[in-house]
Amino acid sequence: MFDAMADGKYLKTIRFAAAVFFAAIAFASLADIAAARDPAVTGVRLGVNDGKTRVVLDLTTAVPYSAFLLENPYRLVIDLPELDWSVDGADADGKRGVVEGLRYGLFRAGNSRVVVDLKGPVRIAANGALAKPDRLMFDLLPVSRSKFKAGQTVALNNWKPPTAAAIPVPRAKPDGDTRRVVIIDPGHGGVDPGAVRGSTYEKRITMAVAEEVRRQLEASKRYRVVLTRNRDIFLELRDRVRLAQDNEGDIFISLHADTHPKRTTRGASIYTLSERASDKEAARLAAKENKVDVISGIDLTPYSPDTGSILLDLTRRRTMEESSVFANMLIAQFRKKKINMQPIKTHRFAGFAVLKAPDVPSVLVELGYLSNKTDKKMLLSEAFRKKVGRAVLASLDDFFKHIDDLAAR
Ligand SMILES: [Zn+2]
Repeated sequence: MFDAMADGKYLKTIRFAAAVFFAAIAFASLADIAAARDPAVTGVRLGVNDGKTRVVLDLTTAVPYSAFLLENPYRLVIDLPELDWSVDGADADGKRGVVEGLRYGLFRAGNSRVVVDLKGPVRIAANGALAKPDRLMFDLLPVSRSKFKAGQTVALNNWKPPTAAAIPVPRAKPDGDTRRVVIIDPGHGGVDPGAVRGSTYEKRITMAVAEEVRRQLEASKRYRVVLTRNRDIFLELRDRVRLAQDNEGDIFISLHADTHPKRTTRGASIYTLSERASDKEAARLAAKENKVDVISGIDLTPYSPDTGSILLDLTRRRTMEESSVFANMLIAQFRKKKINMQPIKTHRFAGFAVLKAPDVPSVLVELGYLSNKTDKKMLLSEAFRKKVGRAVLASLDDFFKHIDDLAAR
């Protein structure tokens, strides 16, 4: 025989459990809907079977794609709508079958991209979207050089990525605003991570440093700051240069971090533009930094190489001199703020594409090496970012005083 009280209690418990149960279901489906609204890639997998290399992208929901092949070097580029990446960094170091490596991220607004580096020529033998769970797959089959078809394109329902939006028109400098315009360029971004060590990405370090430098410069009220990018998005090198010019930049500072095969190599160094590199290291670095457009899956073959002399006109020559003056002032302030510098050849020269604005003095700062344990820890610290901000601010004050003194003579 049931005790009425106990019975009531029992019922209540069941009701409560049921409520929790249904709430849990409701919660789960809400989460599912949220996930469905926010498309994300949750995995990038590689497999080899029967001589074919299969690239699989795991998705939270179905998305269209368009993929194509490029040469010099051989690459497969997969364009997708803009989506989130919840992929473990380790998955991206793909090296299987014909795949030598891969990168992913935002290419431009509305367009995420995966770039797959290939060991040699291939054709896309099969491709498609699969459901439950949603995923995309591409089968790559090695072919001879003569059979390789650059530009072979496959797409789902003829989907095409959005065309490049024009670089936003800069806001005109307000009348009476006499502040100098400082262009801060956080190196890399989006599909181009820059240097990578484990889960540490150069593109994130440069962004964090740029934001701190901007904060300090704006707080001084002496400078107007324009960042070339304000989120994790890819930007071509020439667009960074153009942004500096369009915004009437008085100075351009590109921020980077490097890796080195020698793990003991550490310290910051400052680079300016020159036709001939100051040393082998500088040439190596410039070649690496100039390669990012290739890395992000841009076909550079239509462009003719930049063969023109960069020392042609006086404007350029004066800009290069001013760049050198600023580089030395920046080095002096880095030393003053106790930022570890490369002991020799702190100021180096090479043909960096991003420093080629003919009328904006430009420097490239290599903040340190991700391949060095001490440097890596430092690069990720707030204390370091603050020091860099103070050094940049002080060197800008020195530099524009020098420019004003020259003009007053
Ligand atoms: Zn870099």
